[in-house]
Amino acid sequence: MSAQDRDTRVILPGATLGVLGGGQLGRMFAQTAQAMGYFTAVLDKDETSPAGLVSHHHIRSGYEDPQGLAELARLCAAVTTEFENVPAGSLNRLAESLPVSPAGSAVAIAQDRAAEKAHFVKCSVPCAPYAVIETPGQLAAVNDVLLPGIVKTARMGYDGKGQVRVTTREELNTAWEQLGRVPCVLEKMLPLALECSVIVARGRDGTIVNLPVQRNLHRDGILAVTEVYAGNLPATQVEKAIAAARSVAIGLDYVGVLCVEFFVLTDGMLVVNEIAPRPHNSGHYSQNACDVSQFELQVRCMTNLPLTQPRQHSPSIMLNLLGDLWFKNSSEARSPAWDQVLALPGCALHLYGKHDAKRARKMGHLNITGATPEAVRATALKAAAILGIEPF
Ligand code: ATP
Ligand code: MG
Repeated sequence: MSAQDRDTRVILPGATLGVLGGGQLGRMFAQTAQAMGYFTAVLDKDETSPAGLVSHHHIRSGYEDPQGLAELARLCAAVTTEFENVPAGSLNRLAESLPVSPAGSAVAIAQDRAAEKAHFVKCSVPCAPYAVIETPGQLAAVNDVLLPGIVKTARMGYDGKGQVRVTTREELNTAWEQLGRVPCVLEKMLPLALECSVIVARGRDGTIVNLPVQRNLHRDGILAVTEVYAGNLPATQVEKAIAAARSVAIGLDYVGVLCVEFFVLTDGMLVVNEIAPRPHNSGHYSQNACDVSQFELQVRCMTNLPLTQPRQHSPSIMLNLLGDLWFKNSSEARSPAWDQVLALPGCALHLYGKHDAKRARKMGHLNITGATPEAVRATALKAAAILGIEPF
């Protein structure tokens, strides 16, 4: 069979699907694949990884271990990733023997903020003004218009980690030192009115579908609340965000689920922030509010099953459940009052099976659906009050 034939054939339930990474995204992928009748294999060296705990197979190895990768290839009919920092080389290596989506080349771009921004420019999708800082010369040459700004490490940042906000050149110099003089980008600090994201799924045949635009509230650099219903964003931004997300995916010749994050500025301009080559925290509401979830889209993409345009059937709000909530009333971790929360209508609890609650750790999320935006907001605010989440 040619690689082309191999990659385009439909992989039916009964086959084993593999995922690189054992976090919560891998867990929800595995659970969804299993619900559809697939077997699953997770590669993650953590014995107690959320996905490893629920998967038929758990290969306990690092992402670059040749034996682990060979075992994954032997077990699986296709492989995907749930973690954007899986070395692109490992994806490429797997792709020699089985279909892999997304491709190493696309993941490599999403892994590197400088390459990612160059891609946005190539697709004519506006992003924040920025400079790449890899050398003392580039640091010295930074234009003052980028200040105040945010220095972000080009690689390995997440949940606001690897970022320093700077106002002056002195602070910029110190920040680059603090970050270990690794390759960085400096982004101009923009006046944000709101943040939003769009999840697209693209098949190998070029079919592309999207979830509705998600409005996201971040607190301390971590997603806190996602609201998805008609009117959550001005209509012009909705259309622009969907069109931009689609062109970013098409420009990458992307196969799989891709999240594109945006800023809407105070003057109404839409600016792309970054992409994630996988399902995204802001897409979790789709599990309970849409006829196809982002994880089912991931399964359909990697198996060449048809992609139908998802339909959201209920207004929805997602509340992230960070470990902080376990410490609201005591210094020792205590489970929040799930019984009280689940007494509210339309609440679906998703917990990731993480044993230790830690501050800022994503322990789970609560999806809330309702008949109207007003109803879902009222319920979400009640749930937030019970859990000790600040109102929004
Ligand atoms: P994650 O992986 O959780 O999405 P991250 O660590 O990759 O986060 P970013 O998305 O780059 O970080 O930034 C985190 C948050 O910081 C953004 O959601 C936004 O609230 C704020 N932020 C980032 N860049 C800018 C900017 N140029 N201007 C204003 N605010 C910004
Ligand atoms: Mg982000």
